[in-house]
Parts: sequence; structure tokens; C-alpha cells
Amino acid sequence: MKTTVPEFSFWEREEWLKSPDLFIVGAGIVGASVALFYKEKYPDHDVVVADRGYAPYGASTRNAGFACIGSISEHLADIKKAGEETVFNRIERRWNGLKLLRKTIGDENMDYIHTGGYEIFTDEKKFKQSSDQIDRINQILENRLALENVYSATKYQGYPVIKNRVEGAINSGRMMRHLHEMLSKAGVRIWWNCPVTSVKSNRAVLNDSFEITPKKMVLAVNGFISKLAEIPVKPARGFIFITQPVKNFEWKGIFHYNEGYVYFRDLGDRLLLGGGRDQSMDDETTDQFGTNQTIKNYLIDFAENVLRIPSDFEIDMEWSGIMGMTENKEPIIKEVETNVWAAAGLSGMGIAIGMQVAQDVVSKLRNEL
Ligand SMILES: Cc1cc2nc3c(=O)[nH]c(=O)nc-3n(C[C@H](O)[C@H](O)[C@H](O)COP(=O)(O)OP(=O)(O)OC[C@H]3O[C@@H](n4cnc5c(N)ncnc54)[C@H](O)[C@@H]3O)c2cc1C
Repeated sequence: MKTTVPEFSFWEREEWLKSPDLFIVGAGIVGASVALFYKEKYPDHDVVVADRGYAPYGASTRNAGFACIGSISEHLADIKKAGEETVFNRIERRWNGLKLLRKTIGDENMDYIHTGGYEIFTDEKKFKQSSDQIDRINQILENRLALENVYSATKYQGYPVIKNRVEGAINSGRMMRHLHEMLSKAGVRIWWNCPVTSVKSNRAVLNDSFEITPKKMVLAVNGFISKLAEIPVKPARGFIFITQPVKNFEWKGIFHYNEGYVYFRDLGDRLLLGGGRDQSMDDETTDQFGTNQTIKNYLIDFAENVLRIPSDFEIDMEWSGIMGMTENKEPIIKEVETNVWAAAGLSGMGIAIGMQVAQDVVSKLRNEL
């Protein structure tokens, strides 16, 4: 859709809209981290990040805030699809990515709490299938990451549970706000409310009306990449709600259920519950925000009948976010045209792997201008 943009003045063109050395589309965790790490490497280069929203408007500020490496049932399901080597490499990447996130942002700047993660089971057979693998998976993780006894079987609220002792929770909004403050301090320019409507060669069209010609570009738009480049990444909508305070709320920590398709955590005495995409997979393969009533009902039922919170609980707010999924859940970093890179397909793990993906991108960008 064409929007009417006033003529830009000489000063605006010279000082504000000058084509930068590096132009990054998308101000989520990947785009913002590319800007940060690139600026650290090349402090003299001019860097602009553009986002179509007033704030990041994709997944980075709309997620559940799990700083996690994943549950055993999720790993077992992934091994069936992608093979053991890929999955253990990915767990390693998630673990190293979380360390990078914590080092870069600082725990205090994102309210990191080391809660531990719990996978709950309502089916004894599924619990046995997963718990039978604990020793083997622990041994592999000890060999690869020097982490002992990551997973252990226990009970929580009467359910059989596999605890993961290395996981925690963050405040995603605060983490992203701090990251953006770091960009401002580093001298990165940020253009909000600036949809990039097409990218061709070294030209990017902003808002269907203004064209810039940066020396290099990074498309960090994850689930929205199909609008700008041909990459095998499918959008996937994720849904979350938060309740009003619940009396005697006892679920404390971060929790996984059903191969990671359902997740919940406490926010003090409130429940944050999300996921359920597997209940309506085709409908959720979309980059449009919105609520799927089938999924919402499923999650409400889960809260009442599995978490057993009083049925008169009230939902305070709900929202959706858009992820980008690849066939085998591996992110794609690809030069789609000379000096135009795409980084997409974080496959629902962006808190853990987002900064590492950004580091990879920066290492691949040519240094000459
Ligand atoms: C409901 C939900 C729960 C999740 N929970 C977790 C979790 O607990 N732990 C975890 O590790 N991961 C989680 N994730 C995944 C994680 O949030 C993502 O993997 C990560 O945020 C992806 O970051 P990104 O920077 O690649 O993309 P995004 O954060 O989506 O950023 C892309 C940005 O590009 C902008 N954009 C898009 N198109 C254009 C355009 N044409 N022009 C300009 N700007 C554009 C968007 O506005 C957006 O800000 C969750 C995701 C969702 C949706």
C-alpha cells in the first residue's frame, strides 16, 4: 500500500536518511545483536536498524521468556526428525547462546532468575519413555558441555516431572529494552515505524516510497522473511495469556509440557501460559497476529484440569507472536544476493540462539565497504 510521505529536505536526506554502511531490517534480538556486534567490530561504520513497528513487532518482545535448552521429550521428538548429532549440536548452541546472552546483557538487566526448568507429564508411559533416556542424555551433555546431571526425575504438584537444573527465566521486554539502549550508546541509528517493502540488489525501499542504497544489508525478520527473500522458513504463530493474580498459586519456575508445545511459568502470583500450536497446526502457519479460539480453549482447559488453578481465574491479557520455523529447526544464515544476508528460522529458540546467530552473521559480512 502506498503511503504519502512528504518531500524530504536536503538536511533530512544528508543527515538522517543517508544510506548507511550496514542496514539491518528487523529490530528483534537477531537484528539488534547484529548491530551491536558489528559496531563493536567496526566502530567507524554507520549502522541503521529499521523496524516496521513502534517497538519490535515479531517475537522477541512477545515470547515466554524461557532461557532454556529444551525438555527431553522435545529432544526425543527432534532426534526423530533431524538425527542425534544435529540435536546435540543444537543443545550445545543453546547453552553457549544463553551464556552469551547473559554475558552481553547482564542478569540484572533482564531480571534473570535461575528457576530450573520442569517438564511435567500427565501420561506415565510418556514419562517412562523420556525418563529412561535421562542417564544417557546426561552423559552426552557431561562429555560435550562439562555439565553434570542436567536432567533428573522428580515429582512436582503430584505429577511425574523431569527437572532441568540449568534453565531460567528472563523478562524479555527488559532484555530487549536494554539491548536497544546498548545500541543507542554504541551510536547505532534506529528507524522505528519503517516497514521495508522490498529489497533488490543493494537497494531497499522503505515504506513503499523512499529508497536507500546501503553497502551491506542483513534481513533479520525471521517469520516475515518470505516478503523480502526466498528462504525455506515458514511463519508460525504462538499464543500466550497471563491471568490475573491467582490465590495460593504454587507453580513456581518455568515448565514444559508435550514436547515443548505447551509452556507456562509464574509471574509472581500470576500464570503465564502459552503454546498449543499443535492443536491447530495449519491455521497457525501464518504471519498474521491473532487468537485461535480452539487453542485458547485448550489452554484454558489445561490451566483448569492439569494445573488445577481455580476455574474462576481471569485472563488479564493475551497476545500472539510470530516465529519462523525451518524443516529441521536449524536457523538459516544465507547470502541471498551479494552483500545482502538473511538470518531467519530461529524455530522458537531465539532467546537461546539469537545472539549466536547474530555473531555468525557478523563473522560472515565482508569487512570492506
Ligand atoms: C509466543 C512465543 C513464545 C516464545 N517463547 C520463547 C522462549 O520462551 N524462549 C525462546 O528461546 N524463544 C521463544 N520464542 C522464540 C523467540 O522469541 C524468537 O525465536 C526470537 O525472538 C526471534 O528473534 P528475531 O530477531 O529473529 O525475530 P523477531 O523478534 O520476530 O524480529 C523481527 C523483527 O522484524 C520486524 N519486521 C518484520 N518485517 C519487517 C519489514 N518488512 N520491515 C521492517 N521490519 C520488519 C518485526 O517488526 C520484528 O520486530 C517464542 C516466540 C513466540 C512467538
